[in-house]
Amino acid sequence: MDTLKLLSDQMALEPDGEPRISSSAPACFSPKEKDQAFVHPAQLPNGQKIMLLKTLLSSACERDCFYCPFRAGRDFRRATFNPDEFAGLFSKLNQSGAAEGVFLSSGLAGGGVRTMDKLLDTADILRKKHQYKGYLHLKIMPGSEKDQVYRAMQLADRVSINLEAPNTERLAKLAPHKVFMEELLRPLKWVEEIRRTVPAYKFWNGRWPSSVTQFVAGGSDESDLELLTTTNWLNKNVRLKRAYFSAFHPIRNTPLENKPAVDPMREHRLYQASFLLRDYGFDLEDLPFTDSSNLPLNADPKQAWAQLYLVNRPIEINKAEKRELIRIPGIGLKGADAILNARRLNKLRDLSSLKKLGIIAERAAPYVLLDGRKSDQQLVLF
Ligand code: SF4
Repeated sequence: MDTLKLLSDQMALEPDGEPRISSSAPACFSPKEKDQAFVHPAQLPNGQKIMLLKTLLSSACERDCFYCPFRAGRDFRRATFNPDEFAGLFSKLNQSGAAEGVFLSSGLAGGGVRTMDKLLDTADILRKKHQYKGYLHLKIMPGSEKDQVYRAMQLADRVSINLEAPNTERLAKLAPHKVFMEELLRPLKWVEEIRRTVPAYKFWNGRWPSSVTQFVAGGSDESDLELLTTTNWLNKNVRLKRAYFSAFHPIRNTPLENKPAVDPMREHRLYQASFLLRDYGFDLEDLPFTDSSNLPLNADPKQAWAQLYLVNRPIEINKAEKRELIRIPGIGLKGADAILNARRLNKLRDLSSLKKLGIIAERAAPYVLLDGRKSDQQLVLF
């Protein structure tokens, strides 16, 4: 159990489920050196809340990524589980109700293929020997082979491969021995290729696992435009479930220890923009990039777009299509559906009727018409 506590405390609390908007953790492993419980509440993609164990099979690593506390040669206490040992320990935690799911990653020892084999062995023992039926998120190691990716997908509910940076040039500034196209992007493409060619029943619970990635925001001096261009490509081409952004935070005794930390608000803006691209029909050119190709930290990107395009051309709530409604600040996907349903019965004539539907009416007010009338004057009603 001591090893588990050590590895879990060391583990980068890479997000799983909803992003931690104000997180300052770096992408691969967390710099958190304070005590923390090794099982954490997490929300799964389906909304279910569980207690998730996030841990490493080993904190030994032969790579030397510039930002990472686990880089080879950095002096700290390392620990390693063998697959049987970890599977047995987790199974006990699961049976006692202490942990309902697991997110398993590892430092690299003996190459990506060998390390991936150990992660796969662990997952296999959990599923077969311990009959574990719960949530399993497996990290795919850089350099894994295609049949290993397939095996991981057969065992896991979610797989992830962290790109860390948006392209080859930027990755070289963060991780000199990671190869962007071959080691990181190619396995993400394989995941989608496998999903397209192998029927879902071949996977452990009859479903294809989702795939996610993570970027170290600001770690390689990349722009938000670069990060979101890659994210947009991944959304469209490999059906990425979600990109996570982790604002760069310097770690002691690493080559980037003197690089200033990135404002966590940048993460928040990147998440907002990535959701606009993924779910709200926005294109990259709709986003309010500054001259330096970054998103302004002081403006919600949806609101900035609306200020430019909707203030003088407000949208009639009673006539707009869903794709128009979801472009209005304060109206999300569920809110738009609620409006469509409600207006089948009655015209929506004031902000209070929007508020009753769960809309953030104050935010929407400057950009909408309600039965032909501009409604921001009604704000005094609230
Ligand atoms: S591969 Fe790089 S980022 Fe991952 S644990 Fe090793 S040094 Fe850290």
